Amino acid sequence: MDIINDIKNKAKANFREVQAIRHHLHQFPELSFEEENTASFVQKKLDEYGISYQKNVAGHGIIALIKGNNPSKKVIALRADLDALPIEEKNEVPYKSKNNGVMHACGHDVHTACLLGAAKILNSLQKEFEGTIKLIFQPGEEKLPGGASLMISAGVLKNPNVESIIGQHVYPELEVGKVGLRSGMYMASADELHVKVIGKGGHGALPQHTVDAVLMASTIIVNLQQIVSRNAPPTVPTVLSFGKIIGNGATNVLPSEVFLEGTFRTMNEDWRADAHQKMKKLAESIAEGMGGLCEFEIHKGYPFLCNDESTTKITYAAAQQYLGAENVIDLDLRMTAEDFSYYTHHTKGCFYRLGTGNKEKGITQKVHHPQFDIDESALEIGMGFMAYQAICQLKTE
Ligand SMILES: [Zn+2]
Ligand SMILES: [Zn+2]
Repeated sequence: MDIINDIKNKAKANFREVQAIRHHLHQFPELSFEEENTASFVQKKLDEYGISYQKNVAGHGIIALIKGNNPSKKVIALRADLDALPIEEKNEVPYKSKNNGVMHACGHDVHTACLLGAAKILNSLQKEFEGTIKLIFQPGEEKLPGGASLMISAGVLKNPNVESIIGQHVYPELEVGKVGLRSGMYMASADELHVKVIGKGGHGALPQHTVDAVLMASTIIVNLQQIVSRNAPPTVPTVLSFGKIIGNGATNVLPSEVFLEGTFRTMNEDWRADAHQKMKKLAESIAEGMGGLCEFEIHKGYPFLCNDESTTKITYAAAQQYLGAENVIDLDLRMTAEDFSYYTHHTKGCFYRLGTGNKEKGITQKVHHPQFDIDESALEIGMGFMAYQAICQLKTE
């Protein structure tokens, strides 16, 4: 039997088991960096499959190895994330979250279940491929500093050295049966801006005796948009949004301080660093020019995500073979962030999307929504395709 059909049959045979894994993970979600029971559950499954692993990497992370023939020939990694979100689930399903206020609303239960399914398949095909497959189950994708960066510091890409890494993410915007890919820049870096504008409060009727922090903050917000329109390279997507303004005066009271919070996102690390300097300088000089002060803090988040051309090409071709060319979609850029990006700045990476939506069945809610769910037939594709493309990655020099 050819390898594609062999894998498809194995994925079909494993479906109920992987569905049960997903249901278990979905019922017992844990927040970022608190994935203790989730990690124990994954370890139990790896024990059952006879796959050796290292546990407690960067907290609750797990690294497992599946060796084929000639194991040192090429090493690739497959990554899943373990954590859930602080959201109260609003789905009425038998596998509804039992942990109050915590929900797998970003599909990380799906990623972990599919990777375990792929691991079981690949472990049964050890004689069929050359090289080694490293399985990475990482904690804390949803929270800074990002489990990926901690796993990298703990050496996840070394010993043996990983030549390329593949990550899969659910995508409810895409119908089940399809996958989406994009070569090159794909997702944005994301930095938090925390700004304190300091003036001098007083009576709203006597502004001449005050330094108006509200006006300063407004001027700063408006002028910072010029950084996006006049300084950002026109070829590099850039977004600046302030979603929080607190200036707690009254109709006739000007407050002494105004607080702003926002997000800065882009897709080029040099421009990102440059923009940080420019935003800070402009905000501070506006406040100073108006007689006040500005404390401009930037909390750096994940870097931008860049999919390696050669690695993505292999996954793309594998997808066409596994699912049919009509089911492989070219993805658009996205200004959301994902900590898989850290891996792509250390090794060649490909982060692709698994279609999990089904408009006919009404499964359309987006990730991070309290009614997010998937069409579970995606589990069969998620595990089978992940396994197949891994073998394709190993086949090429
Ligand atoms: Zn998420
Ligand atoms: Zn996610």
